[in-house]
Amino acid sequence: MKHILLLTTGGTIASQKHANGLAPALHGKDMVAQLELGYPDYHFDFEDLLDLDSSNIQPEEWRLIARRVYDALSDYDGIIITHGTDTMAYTASALSFMLQNLCKSVVLTGSQLPIQNPLTDGVTNLFTAVEAIARGIAGVSVAFDRKIIPGTRAVKVSTMAFDAFESVNADYLGQIFADGTRIFHPQHISCDPTSPTILNDDFCTDVFLLKLLPGTRPEIFDSLADMGYRGIVLEAFGAGGLHYINRDLHSRLAMLAERNIAVVVCSQCLYERCDLSIYEVGHRILEKGVIPARDMTTEAAATKLMWALGQTTQVEEVRRMFDTCYVGEVTLL
Ligand code: ASP
Repeated sequence: MKHILLLTTGGTIASQKHANGLAPALHGKDMVAQLELGYPDYHFDFEDLLDLDSSNIQPEEWRLIARRVYDALSDYDGIIITHGTDTMAYTASALSFMLQNLCKSVVLTGSQLPIQNPLTDGVTNLFTAVEAIARGIAGVSVAFDRKIIPGTRAVKVSTMAFDAFESVNADYLGQIFADGTRIFHPQHISCDPTSPTILNDDFCTDVFLLKLLPGTRPEIFDSLADMGYRGIVLEAFGAGGLHYINRDLHSRLAMLAERNIAVVVCSQCLYERCDLSIYEVGHRILEKGVIPARDMTTEAAATKLMWALGQTTQVEEVRRMFDTCYVGEVTLL
């Protein structure tokens, strides 16, 4: 018999209609009742940890969730976290970095329709999360629309459709078909069951995510530096281009390096890698000390930068961390 802990944090899955729209109102007991119907041989405990729309889940909440997971790990075969879908990818990435050498399954799930709605996807998503635990998928993952996605590769791609999440630049870990559950990658992270899981939950919240627009003014970098930001994730064009004619973003990057601000460059494109060496508009900024995100999702790049700056104040150390794959977040070529 498997022992599973359900941690609830709010989101649509737990929501009911109020005068101002949907808001979290349901609790773990409502979801455990569904889980027990589907898996009568398993034992489920639940804890209502938070009651939030995921737009309100921030680094403080990531830390709270990570600590509760860490404390409960030894008592359970796996942990399911129900969470709003809007920022689930950020939480999944953040938890992945915070919980190193995680050999058990920690699965985030939620739904597009509340669990009390007769057309809900919530029950199937909860059952998919149980499948991930039953099949022993180590590490943090996201279970949605019958797919199991690596935590650092999940991206929300649809606001309304039920297949709202994709695994970007990495295979699904598993998928449920009419003829059964297929597990493609039971071990997407390296973990050693003879060593303990390590909780490392120091995060720097002084990280800014900037999506470039043709015409973005270079002074934005001065403002961010003056505001005390220590890290910037730049969503650049295509394979990693930034303009320097008329409005010279490139020369401001040297100023950021001098002020010990780490700049990570990723792409506005959802798929494939950013490669700053291909075009002149990218190549010139490599000399300014920027850190390429390679094929990381924006969510993973941003949470990794927050985590890295929680461990070090040195940009060179941040670069070394971005040259390291910790939890399947990046393909190093
Ligand atoms: N606004 C909700 C949330 O992220 C959406 C959802 O759960 O699907 O909490």
